[in-house]
Amino acid sequence: MTTEEVKKKALVKKKEKVAPKPEELAIDAASQKMIARSRELEVETIFDRAQSMKPCNIGAQGTCCKNCAQGPCRLPLPKGGIEGEDTRKGLCGATPETIAARNFARMVAGGAAAHSDHGRGVAETFLAAARKETEDYRIKDTKKLLEIAPDFGVDITVEGENGEILDRDIDEIAVEVAEKALAQWGQQQGEVCTVKRAPAARYELWKKLGVVPRGIDREIVEIMHRTHIGVDQDYENIVEQCSRAAIADGWGGSMIATDLQDVLFGCPYPLRSSANLGVLREDHVNIVIHGHEPLLSEMIVEAAELPEMLELAKEKGAEGIQLSGICCTANEILMRHGVPLCGNFLQQELAIVTGAVDAMVVDVQCIMENIANVAQCFHTKIITTNPRARIASGDTVHIEFDEHTALEDAKRIVRTAIENFPNREKEVIIPDAKSDLIAGFSYEAINYHLGGTFRGSYVPLNDNIINGRIRGIGGVVG
Ligand code: SF4
Repeated sequence: MTTEEVKKKALVKKKEKVAPKPEELAIDAASQKMIARSRELEVETIFDRAQSMKPCNIGAQGTCCKNCAQGPCRLPLPKGGIEGEDTRKGLCGATPETIAARNFARMVAGGAAAHSDHGRGVAETFLAAARKETEDYRIKDTKKLLEIAPDFGVDITVEGENGEILDRDIDEIAVEVAEKALAQWGQQQGEVCTVKRAPAARYELWKKLGVVPRGIDREIVEIMHRTHIGVDQDYENIVEQCSRAAIADGWGGSMIATDLQDVLFGCPYPLRSSANLGVLREDHVNIVIHGHEPLLSEMIVEAAELPEMLELAKEKGAEGIQLSGICCTANEILMRHGVPLCGNFLQQELAIVTGAVDAMVVDVQCIMENIANVAQCFHTKIITTNPRARIASGDTVHIEFDEHTALEDAKRIVRTAIENFPNREKEVIIPDAKSDLIAGFSYEAINYHLGGTFRGSYVPLNDNIINGRIRGIGGVVG
């Protein structure tokens, strides 16, 4: 053994000595197994980085400001706290409260922008489908389209020549809904129209507090303006704008995304599937879809089922194609197609460590930059697909997705994964761990299950929460 090798071995031993055991890092058996495997292969994951990361004390207090070039101004809380008046100030005089509120507000702006921009992308594709500019997307759920149209101020009937009420053409309704939906982002005055869906008392309270959003983009831009140097210096007033932007996203951008996705791809309905790293299959081409938007993943599901793709997979020595998902994109294809869930946010690197992932296809949000580095230790191809989200680290492939050529793009992606199947180089180790699940509880499905076709409502659920028979409901929210 050379001196270098001895040193390296000693370093590994030292790391092993201080590193917490996988069982101390994750409760899930599949994750524990893959953390151990990553250490064996010396592949760094978030579980290692979490050990060496020292949180910044001032950052944790939210009192570091770099909103102008005079900073950064750091306002740490002195050890032992502050006796008497708090005299901490940034160069411009900003107090810790102002700085913390501004930092929080910019986080709200970032989150609202990300989720609402997802909605904008869906609205643009919906408009293209409604105008028949793309053959790859069609309006699937006309019932839901007719239900949501009035919320956007779109009539679903017309008056005939003799005063009779006639059904309006469904394509006309779809185009008008798409245009009205898209207009919510750039609207400057009035109210985001879907906010009125909130319970009446809640809506009235928002009105009283003056936090009903005017337009989705407007509220996000206003946060950026208010938090610029020398603008809003009243932390309560800053936080009020956070509420306005948050409602613009939750009751605007994100809600519109859900509406239009359901109309485009169909309302989810309960179905069986499974979850965890054990859904990967050694003898199949494994394509893991990761990110947030269903626009691309819906097409990948379609492409992976094409006979030409299955034939190509067989030609390359695989038994078939196994799709699975991570994060929100996973949920989209799980609840509509039963595509199993490979893992959660923390398992994205661990999925690659199995050595079985032939391609990980990503769009936007929650994609760890380090997946590109982990992939370099294996044969896995990381395929970025969205112009907003590319990865500079590692050796990624970019296949841009366009809604006008959606199926063709998806086919290219699936083909790239299949062609990578024979390149597996490391031993494949897939944890024998997966759980059965039932997904697909859309608002409509729950409503139906609580009363059927004629009496569907939330009354039985509400009653049983009020009378105490249902003791709690858990929401899993990303
Ligand atoms: S805005 Fe004020 S507190 Fe922030 S960096 Fe500039 S001078 Fe410092």
